[in-house]
Amino acid sequence: MPITSWKVGAGNTAYAMPSTLDPRLIADLRAMRRVVVFTGAGMSAESGIPTFRDRLSGLWAHTDPMEIATPWAFRADPQRVWDWHVLLAGAVCTAAPNAGHAAIAALEQAGLEVTVITQNIDDLHRRAGSREVIELHGNLLRLTSFVDEEAAFAAASPTICRVCDGYAVWEHCDPWAERGDLAAIGLRAGPVPRCPGCGALLRPDVVWFGEPLAVDAIEAAWNAVDRCEALIAVGASLEVEPAASLPWRALARGARVIEVNPAPTALAAECHAAIRGAAAEVLPELFARIWPTRC
Ligand SMILES: [Zn+2]
Repeated sequence: MPITSWKVGAGNTAYAMPSTLDPRLIADLRAMRRVVVFTGAGMSAESGIPTFRDRLSGLWAHTDPMEIATPWAFRADPQRVWDWHVLLAGAVCTAAPNAGHAAIAALEQAGLEVTVITQNIDDLHRRAGSREVIELHGNLLRLTSFVDEEAAFAAASPTICRVCDGYAVWEHCDPWAERGDLAAIGLRAGPVPRCPGCGALLRPDVVWFGEPLAVDAIEAAWNAVDRCEALIAVGASLEVEPAASLPWRALARGARVIEVNPAPTALAAECHAAIRGAAAEVLPELFARIWPTRC
């Protein structure tokens, strides 16, 4: 691992370790209270979680996620897509948050205003104790209805299902169903369940390939980035827009930006400090150095 000194300016891709960060940067960061931690697949990799883009093992070893985690695949064969997600959820549920997740949660509990913006769907930030979490790609363990909007609007009386918030056909809705009935249904082996309110097939509430991010999630992320004084990008490849531009937006707004990543990205050359390393190792040390009285 290359360990060199503090970066001195834009265009310099030298890497620092927490122990070699410029004292002036440390002093600046120590005074800051509004922090965004932006995390990608590298954050969860150390918890042993396959990313949404990894192939699963066993029966599914030859299945390309980009072919099965799509709305088209679900429309063609909902049970097959459901079964694939059940296996992925099994890997997620047996994994535990790592020391990096814990360090982020501890910052929030110590009184800093921390917003986590994550591309991960594994719920590990919440399980570690973080409360302000914006999930850009959704949450594997939460379900939503699969809405065939064309069919709903082609019907005589389309409405919004008050259980799943999806477009529904009024005649099909159960007036007695409650939102809690949906929350009680989990991602587990068996037939694909249906919304108790409108009868629509249920699916994991994640952003599949070919689907746009949820507008409210990306707007919440922009708002958090615009308000933050410091942004720490952790294990994000920064290849997928619009999420990839969040650190650049923070830089343009004058925030201090630090990258923690085992692999170099374009951000390393432009941010205030780039640390090459794994989140579980770097974050506890980094936070203890910046906010020693809080870690
Ligand atoms: Zn519904």
